[in-house]
This record gives sequence, C-alpha cells and structure tokens, in this order.
Amino acid sequence: MSSKNKMPVLFIGHGSPMNAIANNNYTRELSDLKNSIETPKAILMISAHWLTKGTFLTAMSSPKTIHDFQGFPKELFDIQYKAPGSPELAEILINNISSPQIEKDMDEWGLDHGTWSVLRHMYPEANIPVIQLSMDMTRPAEYHFEMGQKIKFLRQQGVLIMASGNIVHNLRQLNWDENALPFDWSVEFDLWVKEKALQGDFNSLVKEFTETKSGQLSVPTPDHYYPLLYILGAVDEKDQLSFLFEGIQNASISMRSFKWS
Ligand code: ZN
Repeated sequence: MSSKNKMPVLFIGHGSPMNAIANNNYTRELSDLKNSIETPKAILMISAHWLTKGTFLTAMSSPKTIHDFQGFPKELFDIQYKAPGSPELAEILINNISSPQIEKDMDEWGLDHGTWSVLRHMYPEANIPVIQLSMDMTRPAEYHFEMGQKIKFLRQQGVLIMASGNIVHNLRQLNWDENALPFDWSVEFDLWVKEKALQGDFNSLVKEFTETKSGQLSVPTPDHYYPLLYILGAVDEKDQLSFLFEGIQNASISMRSFKWS
C-alpha cells in the first residue's frame, strides 16, 4: 500500500444510534464529507464502543455488523453494513507496532454502531475495507494518545484513520428531544475542547479534561472521549484543523466533529 498524498484524520461525534437512520444537518454533513477527501484504500476506526483489556484489531475478511444497543426500533437492528475487512492492513499494523502487542480478533467483534452509524452516511456502498482497533480501558489517557502516534504512519499509505465518540457524552443527563436546549456545562466544555484544539494544546486535552466541573459532567466516563486522543496523536504539525460539524444534541451530547488535513 502506498499513496502520494497524506490522508486526513477524522474524529466524528456519533451521538444517538438514531442518527444512523436520520436525515438531519449532521448526517447530511457526513454524506458530503467524502467529496472533500481522497477515496481511502481502507479505514482504520477507533470506536467508543469497543472497550477491552488488552489491544485488539479486527482481522477477519468479513466483519459482522454488531447492534450494540437496546430499546431502539427494529429498523436499526435490521441494518447490515457489509464492508469487507482487511486482514492485510491488520497484518501491517501488527508488524509495525511492537508495543503494545496487538492481538488479532477473528470472530469476537466486527463493526459496532460507533462505526457503522457514521460510515453508512459517508460510504453507503460499504465498498471500502474497514478494520477496528479496540481501546484498552485499563490504560490511562496518555496511552491512547501514544497509540495515535503509532498508527499515524498509515496516513501515508492511503488509510483513513477515523475515531468515533463524543467529546461531551452524559447519558444520565440526556434529554430525549434531539433539539433540547444544551446544558451550560456541555456548551462550556465543548468550547474548551474547541479552543484547545485550535491552539494545538494537545497536552491539555490529554491531561486536563476532568479538571473542571464542566469536564467532569461532560466526560463522566472516558469511553467516548478517548477516541479523540488517537486522532490527536495522529495529527502532524503541518495539518490544518477544520470542524466538520458543531452542535449539541439531546442537551448533553456534543456532535462536534474534527478534521485535520
Ligand atoms: Zn456511543
């Protein structure tokens, strides 16, 4: 695999699984996104929904579609996102990263809704190979940032590195109305992340995200925030940041999505 141009890196806020079948400003933005980036040879996805002890990579040739949620309409459970996997790309990653030792997953995982709820808008044909990298939740924030640095070389090989989470994600405070007025703390933290990202102050984003009340409420558990750290690790000094989408759904979920290219 080689490519002349360096691929961008993307962090996508995914929000409610209902976005998978919605047609709103956010999903339309996702649909348009492919027009502004070179068609990738493969996608490496880090999803907030694959949490493990140890680090795993999907390495099967046909990853299954995982419906990892409850209480949603049948329409969502009927979705199949049949993108092929890429055992070849999994091999490249495993051979290039000596620490941590990444283990191949052949039948346990597949593509979870953090992945397919986004990709079915971006690449509805499901014709681009996708592999997922799990997040080792026994590790601290710095580890996830460093993993981003370790996977960065794939950008030169036509691979689109994407992460799917939400920088503000508090389900306890969630309002079922998608357009509910956002909480002050969710707006405050969303803007803090925006500002630090624009300043290139990744150190604060890795180390200080729970130092304020608004941070603690926005990141009550780190699962949806950590995917951003992989993308920060994969950013190059020359990259320009743009925001693909900003807005808060359900009062406590930031849909802010980032592109560095
Ligand atoms: Zn989620």
